[in-house]
Amino acid sequence: MQQILLTDPGYGEVKLAKARAKGGYEAFAAALKRNPEEWLETVRTSGLRGRGIGWLVHNKWSTVRSGATETKYLIINAHEGEPGSFKDRALLERFPHKVLEGALLAAWGAGCTRGIYYTDVAHDDALEAFQRAMDEAREANLLGDNILGSGWDFDIKTSVFPGDKYPNYVYISGEETAIIEFIEGRRPLPRNKPPFPAEAGLYGKPTLVHNVETLAHLPGIAANGAPWFRAMGTAETPGTLLMSVMGPVNNPGVFEVEAGTSLRTLLEDIAGGVIDGGKVKAVAPGGPGTAFIKGDAIDVPIDYSTIASAGSQLSVGATWVIPEGMCLVEECIKIQRWYERMCCRQCAGCGMGTSVIYSNLTDLRRGVVGTEYLDYIMDVAEWIPGQGICDFVERCSQPVKSALTLFSEDFLQHINEGRCADGSYSLVNRKFFDPTAQDHGEQDMPYRP
Ligand code: SF4
Repeated sequence: MQQILLTDPGYGEVKLAKARAKGGYEAFAAALKRNPEEWLETVRTSGLRGRGIGWLVHNKWSTVRSGATETKYLIINAHEGEPGSFKDRALLERFPHKVLEGALLAAWGAGCTRGIYYTDVAHDDALEAFQRAMDEAREANLLGDNILGSGWDFDIKTSVFPGDKYPNYVYISGEETAIIEFIEGRRPLPRNKPPFPAEAGLYGKPTLVHNVETLAHLPGIAANGAPWFRAMGTAETPGTLLMSVMGPVNNPGVFEVEAGTSLRTLLEDIAGGVIDGGKVKAVAPGGPGTAFIKGDAIDVPIDYSTIASAGSQLSVGATWVIPEGMCLVEECIKIQRWYERMCCRQCAGCGMGTSVIYSNLTDLRRGVVGTEYLDYIMDVAEWIPGQGICDFVERCSQPVKSALTLFSEDFLQHINEGRCADGSYSLVNRKFFDPTAQDHGEQDMPYRP
């Protein structure tokens, strides 16, 4: 399995000396000597997509670059608030210089003049590792004024969201316009778009926002060229992807796979399959904000378009596994309760819809409603998308909508008997990993290179 991000099975390359011994910052130094437009063109031909929504990276860069103001911002989004996602922390804690070199390359290509590293207070190990890397880089003139004698000035400040004090904002404070609101000194609430941050973001200036994994791909592309990157993965999603696998599997953790690897290979061969020889009943490939795929349909290759064709979304690759024997009603209640709490309630439709789905599911679980509630919950789940100003509203009903379609027997079982098919399983399953149990997405999961 090709690994280009998690390249060191030990402690990674935390120190600048070790990173440089392995060629770190050489590609950046070479890029600085060339026209940034050439570097942008390399990124365009590489086909790199943002490791989140999957937008083409060079499009954002072009918009920021062509902005009229001299000041342009880069925000390194290390917030990682998606439940069950811990890949960005795995990168930051072990390869902070790879991320920092990627940030420098992004800033150079998009014409950014100032950088901000944004994270949640809970991710303190990753923050410390990145701050140490920045200190080392400043001493080596890789950050600051006149970087490597190029005449280019660029430095990065840190902004930390106090999620411990504002637990109801721990998810939404990672949305890119909410980040901008917070850095500007307001509550982290998403803004209406357009304008998009690349057009008018932080303090009204063009702002490039990238997550950590996206940035970490840039040094490899700069060092080896676009054809090298395109030789991996699929035509639609070149390169590799970091997948955080969670749930009752034998070997949960963060794995790097080439795009195009099947979900079955990831779950059965790499993550070791379901514990006790169990079978996969359902999987949400991108995490609890994405639709379920049935366990018998996991031969689908992992890339943005194929996962979409299978009816789900790849998102940040926080793959949530539900084994046979688990009840989808229980799982949907778990995730809808979390969505109901995390909704920032700026938009009436989103606030009302998340509450209505949650409360109706709890009634259905107790068997005190009839089959007409299946249609009612589905109607609300289909109505919510489009009722709000941020992506949250597009995601929050995906799990329940797909569960109602694919696993209606679980819902009917509760309506008819007021319990799961295996009456005790819903209690037993609480010992398993709950993606929404901890407010900060603080999953103490093993890192597996
Ligand atoms: S869609 Fe929901 S989460 Fe997003 S801004 Fe509106 S209320 Fe908040």
